[in-house]
Amino acid sequence: MSVTKNLKANIKNDFEFVRQSEQHPSVQHEPTNAVDRLWSEYRELFSGWDDLTLARWLSQTLSQLQGRSWRMSHPLVAAYRLAAQTAAQKHIWSQRLVTPPNPYLLAECCRAPLLPLLTRDAGESGLICMHCNASCVPMETVMTQCQPVIDWAKEYSTHHAIAHWDDAERRRVRDYDKSYQRAASKSELLLARLGLEIAPKLLEHYPAVVWEDQDECLQVLPEDVRTGLDR
Ligand SMILES: [Zn+2]
Repeated sequence: MSVTKNLKANIKNDFEFVRQSEQHPSVQHEPTNAVDRLWSEYRELFSGWDDLTLARWLSQTLSQLQGRSWRMSHPLVAAYRLAAQTAAQKHIWSQRLVTPPNPYLLAECCRAPLLPLLTRDAGESGLICMHCNASCVPMETVMTQCQPVIDWAKEYSTHHAIAHWDDAERRRVRDYDKSYQRAASKSELLLARLGLEIAPKLLEHYPAVVWEDQDECLQVLPEDVRTGLDR
């Protein structure tokens, strides 16, 4: 991982879109930078499909996702999310063109099959809907279903906060860059724990779960979060 002097993250990417949309779920964002434009270009594939084809592909892919927790960066998840966003714009799920795979309940936010995204904000926002980016499982429910998620989010937030220290807070430590790098290293370990230990616990309640495997503010990329055999 490379940490530059300029600590303001410039990894603006698709994940940041999640957080923007959480605040303004009804707003359709115009592409604002090169990465957004690229994702819009990718999305054109799904926009070109007719409603039934799109509904069938989503339903089929939900079956493939079932039974596992998934990295947000996994190509299949990324493709699903693009298709899901297109489906949300076209109100595919309210048309009832296909029956979603059996174990998936319907999300109250948008009536799409409930596929929750576990992020570092789970202690405040609960779990996020992969289809419409709204909160699909409130924090209070997560707390009763799986307290370790809340505990993890609390611990994570103390390290994440270092990326957002103001000048006065930065001056309180001798070497802010070092503090930042330590926080980034801790983030890598905690995100790996999220993927290996915490997200799988939610499979007791949901047929599949996606977890956010990066931190744009600490410049931690998916490849920095090691959950494989080479850890
Ligand atoms: Zn939703």
